[in-house]
Amino acid sequence: MTEKTDQLHAMRHSLAHILALSVKRIWPHAKFGVGPVVENGFYYDIDLGDTKLSEEDFPKIEAEMRKIIKEDQPFEKSTKPLNEAIKWTEAWEQPYKKELLNDLARAGTTVAKDLDKNELGTITEGDSKVDSVSFYTNGDFTDLCRGPHVASTGKVGAFKLLRVSGAYWRGKEDNPQMQRVYGVAFASEQELEAYLKMLEEAKARDHRKIGQEMDLFTFSDLVGPGLPLWTPRGTVMREALDGFVQEMRKEYGYEAVAIPHITKKDLYEKSGHWAKFADELFRIKTREGHEFAMKPMNCPHHTQIYASHQRSYRDLPIRYRETTMVYRDEQTGELGGLSRVRSITQDDAHVFCRYPQIKQEALKIWDMIERFYTTLGMDLRLRLSVHDPEAQDAYMGDPKTWDKVENQLKELAEEKVGKDYEYGVGEAAFYGPKLDFMAKDALGREHQVATIQLDFNQPEGFDLTCVNEKGEHERIVMIHCAITGSLERSLSIIIEHYGGKFPVWLAPEQIRIATLNQEDAIVAFAENLAKQAKEMGLRVTVDNAQESVGKKIREAEVMKVPYTVVIGGKEVETKEVNPRIRQDMEVPHERQPIGTEEFLKSVANEARSRVSKSSL
Ligand SMILES: [Zn+2]
Ligand SMILES: [Zn+2]
Repeated sequence: MTEKTDQLHAMRHSLAHILALSVKRIWPHAKFGVGPVVENGFYYDIDLGDTKLSEEDFPKIEAEMRKIIKEDQPFEKSTKPLNEAIKWTEAWEQPYKKELLNDLARAGTTVAKDLDKNELGTITEGDSKVDSVSFYTNGDFTDLCRGPHVASTGKVGAFKLLRVSGAYWRGKEDNPQMQRVYGVAFASEQELEAYLKMLEEAKARDHRKIGQEMDLFTFSDLVGPGLPLWTPRGTVMREALDGFVQEMRKEYGYEAVAIPHITKKDLYEKSGHWAKFADELFRIKTREGHEFAMKPMNCPHHTQIYASHQRSYRDLPIRYRETTMVYRDEQTGELGGLSRVRSITQDDAHVFCRYPQIKQEALKIWDMIERFYTTLGMDLRLRLSVHDPEAQDAYMGDPKTWDKVENQLKELAEEKVGKDYEYGVGEAAFYGPKLDFMAKDALGREHQVATIQLDFNQPEGFDLTCVNEKGEHERIVMIHCAITGSLERSLSIIIEHYGGKFPVWLAPEQIRIATLNQEDAIVAFAENLAKQAKEMGLRVTVDNAQESVGKKIREAEVMKVPYTVVIGGKEVETKEVNPRIRQDMEVPHERQPIGTEEFLKSVANEARSRVSKSSL
């Protein structure tokens, strides 16, 4: 952590104390849980008995907080022996704090194994035996805490309370429900303003909202939660995205395969997924009493295609690609729009190769990932997740293999991005290291997107080999590589990234042709133009409703269509059009009406080359 993030952390943490004191001044009977720092801010869990907080209480709480900030109370540290500390919680009627301390006394180690790491910030952490705990006092408020804080309440930067929600004490359903008051905080007013503006913008771009407005996908109560239904417009976008990925995969020698969506239990018992996906598996019982499951992933099926022949080292790498749905029984409460669904379309691919081929194969995948996200205008950040040599037992295979493989990935990373990547020791899966790619969207939010995951386990479990130069069976390695990860999640990100204003190659509707009136010649001309456009592979609709042209143009704008062309008498006569270009695509310059054919060619060319600006 840099000094600046340390400072911001202390500010946010100090604000949690200020929030607690403010609540205590207004509701003296308040009982406090934990008050950790979270991303962009802080929260405090509070028990107010029958008093239910709402956002309407925020001005009152915030005003009190500002008062405390103005009082500029110093944060003063003190320590108490554990037994005295427990007495203190009794005197102050703080049962939750008492529970934390009792755990500390009993376990002799950090209280809150079952709390988030973050939340441990509220208590002194002991290694083996805890004798005393630290307290911080500001004004007449004392809280159990290990700090650190800013020097005084006047030095906390800018904040705003955002929401209040229910939270079970220590996250357990049979515990009392508390109220979690959540606030955001930044070092300056400007940064806070910028963040709040970003939140507003994110709300306006919510993919669930845009998905409905632009008719991209829908859900049905009869079909069930987490099972999106793709409309024709949304399907166009799925095909455009997947088409891009498959085009690149073909270029790199991936061959298409196809597998059933169900399998016997045996396959997953052998792969280990029967146990791993236990609760998430959709199970099927056949009429003959056999157990089957919907596939939660595709790799085990793909291994059986590889294993159907004896493979020579000369055949390798063998690369399979398949875009197909997998099914995971997520809990209903965790489902949300397209971000988390039960039917997940993976642009899946598996490479079966020899160990020394890993680097060259990973490079190819990296290249596809780069082309994909650069085209979308997203910057990528890389994390290389390697094993922890101190905990070698937690990983399968021998340490030498791990080192060799990780060195290949490290070399590759350094050739590609120099030192500009995160190195996650101990972040590897037990079955292999991986490269993770994080993409930054137009609002500055980061999303984990693509991965290049090495797998030593499934080749072992399914006994996948090739016959090498010496005629021996040689164990091979498998690489899982998704570019989008899943089309559902990817589209949720892409819809919000563009706010629905998709570049031509992705737009469900690329051209709208609006007629000035319903004269035969005009309608015929519009329809002929649409026919030509379709023949060139363009997505076009004709609006010849009995409406004003102004209304037609506004409707096209609502649907965020890149090009709108009005056809009237003049266009019929000159065979030239003057297309309206969606604002974000427009490159300002002098423009003349152009021939219809030239117009269509230009749009088709933009779609093919996947550019985001108009070339007109
Ligand atoms: Zn504190
Ligand atoms: Zn896989």
